[in-house]
Amino acid sequence: MSGKALQNGFSAGSTAWYPPRVSRIEKVYQGKFRTLLRLAGARRLEAGVNWFLSRARARAGSDPVKRNEILVDLESRLFKQLARASRSGCPPLPASRFPVPSHFLFLCDAGLGGLARWLRAAGYQTVWFPGIADHELLDRAVDRRAFLLTTDSLLLERRLLRERLIPALWLLPTLKVLQQLEIVFRELHLTVRGSRCMKCGGELKRVDKASVWDRIPPKTRLWLDEYYVCRNCNHLFWHGTHWQNIRRRLSALQPALAP
Ligand SMILES: [Zn+2]
Repeated sequence: MSGKALQNGFSAGSTAWYPPRVSRIEKVYQGKFRTLLRLAGARRLEAGVNWFLSRARARAGSDPVKRNEILVDLESRLFKQLARASRSGCPPLPASRFPVPSHFLFLCDAGLGGLARWLRAAGYQTVWFPGIADHELLDRAVDRRAFLLTTDSLLLERRLLRERLIPALWLLPTLKVLQQLEIVFRELHLTVRGSRCMKCGGELKRVDKASVWDRIPPKTRLWLDEYYVCRNCNHLFWHGTHWQNIRRRLSALQPALAP
């Protein structure tokens, strides 16, 4: 048996599955494929799970980053296929595939600052600490009973995450921010809410134009009358073209995800 065949999980000259060493991320995706295939009523569940893993390995070769990207893509395609089937009369997908906390406070690790801003725009309280150490991140997640979003697969090995004491979702760091957002929405069955402050996640309150007149750029004053101030950091917001673009992207997210 060749080294490459071993690496890909196949015995030489056949397509039989040979159990290779499974990475942390592959373990995560084993669980995801198992859940989805069970929902799809797959008869040979483990063979199906292994088929997805072996396909990712075969396509990625020895590149683990590419393999993870393929796993994310395969899971996304399977989910969407099931969602379409569920719309056409097959059993619906469950309300959530994760134990979602009753309150939604997201805690993003240092690599997810862009995602944090989009989640706030979508109306979710989200905190993000650049450069925070792992132990501090986990302490804060426990203290604030937050849902952890992380790009660090090593964190998945921590007892607090393994035992689901901290609910968490791993995200592939090489994805674009809107792809990460789509996965969070899909996994947790989120819907777009009224926006929060994109800088700090605070609640926005409507204010009179006159009360913030001096803070509005002169050109904006001419065509906009609605203004909002963050209750937490006092940042001024208005629904300009940039904002409309953000909301358009957010609203485009939902129909594609609806089961
Ligand atoms: Zn703010």
